[in-house]
Amino acid sequence: MKKCAFCTRPADSPEHIFSDWMIELLPSDQRYVCNERIVSRDEYIRYQRRKIKFVAKAVCTPCNNGWMSDLEGALKSIIGDVLVGNWGAIKTFTPEQLKIIAAFAFKTLVLANHKDLGKKRPFFTRHQRSLFRRELAIPAGVSVFLAAREHVAGKYYGFWKSVSGDSKSKSTSYNWMMYSCTWNFQNIVLQAVATKWKSHTHRKSQPPITFPEGDDWKPASLQIWPLNGTNLEWPPNYCLGPDSLLHYRDRFENISVQLLR
Ligand SMILES: [Zn+2]
Repeated sequence: MKKCAFCTRPADSPEHIFSDWMIELLPSDQRYVCNERIVSRDEYIRYQRRKIKFVAKAVCTPCNNGWMSDLEGALKSIIGDVLVGNWGAIKTFTPEQLKIIAAFAFKTLVLANHKDLGKKRPFFTRHQRSLFRRELAIPAGVSVFLAAREHVAGKYYGFWKSVSGDSKSKSTSYNWMMYSCTWNFQNIVLQAVATKWKSHTHRKSQPPITFPEGDDWKPASLQIWPLNGTNLEWPPNYCLGPDSLLHYRDRFENISVQLLR
């Protein structure tokens, strides 16, 4: 059996991508449409069923029932009131709350990576994953963004898409890799992006590339990690409609980076 993404025990526990407490916020008599991208086959599976059960078998029971359950509880107390319904409700997130939301996004990023791992090496080192389990420490090179999905009455949806990428730099020492995951459930869209240098020596001497939110998306996308120490107002000025949501989801699929030397 493969190992837990966050410790050395066997991955024997099904972790739900959409938590039970989230699904319980939805009316029980509705149909839900959810999409999951299968990275290894580069195709989508579309789910239409009353119960949403996306499961990533990538963690152990003690992790799932321990610190991950605590993280879910903390997240519920922070975004539970704006996740479903309450469209347009104004609130302020404190840096401590933003750290919990970012930790949930990073956890989802790791699960996405380990669910699709196959024979590949994990994107994050064992040390980074273990440190996250113990202290919720998010590695350098990870950026997290928070956006709002346009509310359509009577529609219930969520999706989960991850993308792995490789740079095509001519200079071998500046080649890098990235992994991103976009997660949506009803009103909330979370996007986590991570980069690392391919060269191990380069990793020791240079900080990883990060992506500060650009001016184009800023009115709709709040950068919540790394923290800048200030409160953030919710919701953003603009929400994502059907088309902009697709552009947002795929915005890290093809990027060009100018390295300043
Ligand atoms: Zn574990």
